[in-house]
Amino acid sequence: MYKFFIYTVGLAMLFTSCKSIAQPTETQLSSNQSGYWQQHVDYTMAIDMDVNTYQYKGTQQLVYTNNSPDVLDKVFYHLYLNAFQPGSEMDVRARTIADPDKRMGDRISKLQPNEIGYINVNALKQNGTDITYKTVGTILVVDLAKPIQPGEKVTFDMDFDAQVPVQIRRTGRNNVEGVALSMAQWYPKMAEYDTEGWHTHPYIAREFYGVWGNFDVKITIDKNYVIGGTGYLQNPNEIGHGYETGPVNRPNTDKLTWHFVAPNVHDFTWAADPDYIHDTIQVTDGPLMHFFYKGTMPKEKLENWKKIQPKAVEFMQYYSEHIGKYPYKQYSIIQGGDGGMEYGMCTLILGEGTYEGMIKGTISHEMAHSWFQFLLATNESKHPWMDEGFATYVEYRAVNTIFNEGKENPLENVYKNYIYLANSGREQPLTTQGDRYDINAAYSIASYYKGCVFLAQLGYIMGENNLQKTIKKYFTDFAFKHPTPRDIIRTAEKVSGLQLDWYLTDFAQTTNKIDYGVKSVEGNTVTLERIGLMPMPIDLRVTYTDGTTEDFYIPLRMMLGKKPTTATIKEDWPWAFPTYTLETTKTIQQVEIDPKQGMTDVNRANNTNQL
Ligand SMILES: [Zn+2]
Repeated sequence: MYKFFIYTVGLAMLFTSCKSIAQPTETQLSSNQSGYWQQHVDYTMAIDMDVNTYQYKGTQQLVYTNNSPDVLDKVFYHLYLNAFQPGSEMDVRARTIADPDKRMGDRISKLQPNEIGYINVNALKQNGTDITYKTVGTILVVDLAKPIQPGEKVTFDMDFDAQVPVQIRRTGRNNVEGVALSMAQWYPKMAEYDTEGWHTHPYIAREFYGVWGNFDVKITIDKNYVIGGTGYLQNPNEIGHGYETGPVNRPNTDKLTWHFVAPNVHDFTWAADPDYIHDTIQVTDGPLMHFFYKGTMPKEKLENWKKIQPKAVEFMQYYSEHIGKYPYKQYSIIQGGDGGMEYGMCTLILGEGTYEGMIKGTISHEMAHSWFQFLLATNESKHPWMDEGFATYVEYRAVNTIFNEGKENPLENVYKNYIYLANSGREQPLTTQGDRYDINAAYSIASYYKGCVFLAQLGYIMGENNLQKTIKKYFTDFAFKHPTPRDIIRTAEKVSGLQLDWYLTDFAQTTNKIDYGVKSVEGNTVTLERIGLMPMPIDLRVTYTDGTTEDFYIPLRMMLGKKPTTATIKEDWPWAFPTYTLETTKTIQQVEIDPKQGMTDVNRANNTNQL
């Protein structure tokens, strides 16, 4: 999803919207946590789209592998399009939350029967035997004919029909920019089952979690439509579309069948429009990047779509260098016409924004999700901050570098936004499920900004080099898996040798705040105090009466170690002690806690003895 900017506008309205394969290597698949397992899916789907009624019929064969140690007597599918119906949880929540998303408001409640979204399951078989199922909102509950044993593979055959809703959020037809079909979460999607059990969260407002596997998808659609999305097109020459290599020889039929294959992904998304222009650009030692956008846009908007292409290549290279190599052979930026959202091997974005807004505000962010949502597939419903926050962290740094902005601290506004929330009384802990925030603003600031601060501040705690090593190791160890909060903090501990569990528990599981202050300064003695509950090691700068300065580092006792530093290292500070006294060799004029503002101290007014 994309961002908003809040600090200047207050808590009023913030939004965000968001959401690419290659074969993993042996090391990517082999878990280095003993006992780790994950389920596996192989989808073969075929749909036939009627571009006049926006209805489609589909078949789905799903080979499901139970890699868990558990016997499963039920399975669950997500039927996301059912959210776009009057009276759905998405509809009611959008109308009753205190700070509604203006893009939604009461629009769902006004949809007519031919405008709603739905997926109807018409038949379902398990290994050839009919099984019973029922639809509960956006979830399909399936009672199995025969339980699935640990290690067993079963085949589910389904017939379904569906209707693409008028575009409300992310997915849908004929959005404000006139894109015919934005097809996200369009198929019956097996829910994930992991060590926590089934993840059957209803589709209320946000975020996804899916099962890794292989997709083979055939889309039959009007011959004039161009499709972009997840997966490698298998038959460009046959249909005369896509990346055909020979002379275009389009069959003389009303409809064409596009055949895509996507190996090792956890989602499949596409968009289609008869007016799409399709450009490609090859990234050196990287993927082929595709751009799909409507040729009917005004000229200056079309020029933006040309200008963004070389910059998008730079972001691809930056993220590959700073996080880990992008493993698929393809990435597509597609005009989907509604905010920005990250998907497998692609993103759907608004196509008619400004050049800066498109590249710095949206593409930079959505591309970062290819790493933090797609390849490191955390459960976004439970841990939205690990996806949105980490994507925000790399995005701000990448923008600062790629656009030569020269900001000493590109995250300054991110810090301010989080501190604003912390002091607002509306903060909920990062452990809050994505839909369970009281207001949208609290979700957005927590997930995007506090999540970003989580990483950045880890750099203050463990040292910047250790943070950059942690990000790379986290990617190497957990790509193509479902990492959890403990995985990022365990990675940081392994890289730094420091005890860091307290940081995860306090910063992610509570709303404890950081507030350290200067209590007194007398001669060669300074006394500091801990006012907030949140522990932190302290960087302290002292200016002496002779005009010289000295940097001190006060380790936090519970870390049982220190970050690499050139500062003068003092005795550690046991968290339970409310004050700490430090002696210097010369007479002190001024002291300042955390002069580089690496921690999110919620009250900086008391960080110095001289204002
Ligand atoms: Zn996002």
